[in-house]
Amino acid sequence: MSKVWFSPLEENASPDIISQKVVGLYNAAGFERIFDKDEFAAVKIHFGEKNNTGHINPQWIKPLFDAVKEKKCKPFLTDTNTLYRGERQNSINHLMQAYRHGFCVENLGVPVIIADGLLSKNYSEVSIDGKHLKSVKIANDILHSQSLMVLSHVTGHVLTGMGAAIKNVAMGCAPRSGKQIQHADVRPEVRAEKCRACGLCIQWCPRDAIQIYDGVARIDIGKCYGCGECIATCRHHAIKHSFKDTSVPLQEKMAEYALGALKDKKGKCCFLNFLTHITKECDCVDKAQDKVTKDIGILASYDPVAIDKATVDLLREKAGKDILRRLWPENDYSIQIKHAESLGLGSGNYELVIMD
Ligand code: SF4
Ligand code: SF4
Repeated sequence: MSKVWFSPLEENASPDIISQKVVGLYNAAGFERIFDKDEFAAVKIHFGEKNNTGHINPQWIKPLFDAVKEKKCKPFLTDTNTLYRGERQNSINHLMQAYRHGFCVENLGVPVIIADGLLSKNYSEVSIDGKHLKSVKIANDILHSQSLMVLSHVTGHVLTGMGAAIKNVAMGCAPRSGKQIQHADVRPEVRAEKCRACGLCIQWCPRDAIQIYDGVARIDIGKCYGCGECIATCRHHAIKHSFKDTSVPLQEKMAEYALGALKDKKGKCCFLNFLTHITKECDCVDKAQDKVTKDIGILASYDPVAIDKATVDLLREKAGKDILRRLWPENDYSIQIKHAESLGLGSGNYELVIMD
């Protein structure tokens, strides 16, 4: 049984309180043990797309880096470039976006490195024995780091129902081509009766796969690579995907990517999940979103499966309902957790240690 530490939060707690809780969890869990002198220590985070306000606030994690640096290792903040069209599709724009949100050496005392390089070509193949995949592509600067700390903002998600630690590792350690492989089964379909021909999906499609014919958006499936951007973009709910054919293999491949990313880091990785400003959609969405429930707290664990299972259990308990399934009734988020457990990535059985 894995241990998960939980530090509850009051609604809209100050950055000082949150950063104290983060360091309290780091100390209680003994996370310093994964870092060693002179080693590279990747800290995976999502910097938040332009206009996003729900992402992890850099002020919350500044004291965390002060603690990590006591081990005389070389920590750096990192993420990889995105499939979708936005501010994080190449390393230059991505770094500028990180700086605009306050993730910079001046504020945090650590550099930011986009782990898959300028055009997302800096990666290696890692062999695994998955149901779908026998090898996965992992960004080199994460692969070459000896330790990995994963900071995840918990949100709902248009294709997977939930994004937390497993998804953050799976998508977040993969180059664009690895993200594309995970999305390969996503087949968006336009419901003609709902389409208003507004053209918004066309603006956001990174593959120019959508055109309007006869007053209805049409998707060229030969060009589409399943990023899901059009589904998230359409305000009229005119684009859907089939859960069975798309979300199940997507979530299972995510778990397999997480397995590859963590393969050589046994005893050298740890996870913090932030149940703060939880939103319907993820931090890749280019807008400020309202929270869907009160802030709950922060979780810490060495086990990505246990921390995500504890996350959904706490969310259900504190919200009084399965809020993620209500937000995304067509997407059963539990697939990613169950498949990760079946691969041996961790355990869904956990002991919750509740802190002040
Ligand atoms: S965004 Fe939605 S309503 Fe607008 S063209 Fe695309 S599918 Fe139709
Ligand atoms: S059609 Fe939709 S899912 Fe396909 S590439 Fe374009 S935005 Fe992404």
